[in-house]
Amino acid sequence: MTRRLFIAGNWKMNLTLAASLELAEGLKHAAADVADVDIAVCPPSIYVQPVAAALKGTNIGVGAQNIYFEKEGAFTGEISAVMVKDTGCQYVILGHSERRNILGESSEQVNLKIHAALAIGLTPIVCVGELLKEREAGLTEQVVCRQFDGSFSGISADNMKKCVIAYEPVWAIGTGVVATPEQAEEAHAAIRKMIEKNYSKEVADVVRIQYGGSVNDKNAKEILAKPNVDGALVGGASLKIASFMGIIKPA
Ligand code: PEP
Repeated sequence: MTRRLFIAGNWKMNLTLAASLELAEGLKHAAADVADVDIAVCPPSIYVQPVAAALKGTNIGVGAQNIYFEKEGAFTGEISAVMVKDTGCQYVILGHSERRNILGESSEQVNLKIHAALAIGLTPIVCVGELLKEREAGLTEQVVCRQFDGSFSGISADNMKKCVIAYEPVWAIGTGVVATPEQAEEAHAAIRKMIEKNYSKEVADVVRIQYGGSVNDKNAKEILAKPNVDGALVGGASLKIASFMGIIKPA
């Protein structure tokens, strides 16, 4: 089963409007000849629309970093899936560990957001991953399994096929400590087994699982070479053209 590699940049709460547009323009030219890898960038929500406009018609998709699960209404400060789709986005990152751990987002909320995203035709990139103390206690698979079950509750097989999962061990995010290719492969294989158990082999074979956590142009190639690693969700290294392209090009 060949799954197309998917490299997405999570810009988090970084860059100004001018810097976002400069990065988008630079990537547009640098990635113009990339044909066999899916690429996306996920700017802060307030810059999603101008970045999506700048990248319209190119091979670089755009995603938001979060949505609220309600369609509309009195939810001050939130944005809906419909609004995100309306700005020209194809993707949305959901359940990032910074939202789970800093902002207290639960898998139940992530689940409602996945349903909302799929209902409007956005592709959710759903993050799961364990804390360092959980890995050290041998609980990695258990934690990821619990996040998976909670996040994907009630998602049909057809919709599951449309989702992307990002395995992001929390201890590797923004720390410079990257998982070894073997650690990544082990977790990805376990996630694929969970999909097979909950759905079928057919579904498990289709779902793309990205690795995220201190990926850069030096370590990406080895991780991406693993059979169950179908791409990367990249934070820090996605903020510079050279380092992001240094991940995409060898992929
Ligand atoms: C992320 O935030 O999704 C991430 C993987 O960050 P970094 O690449 O900076 O570790």
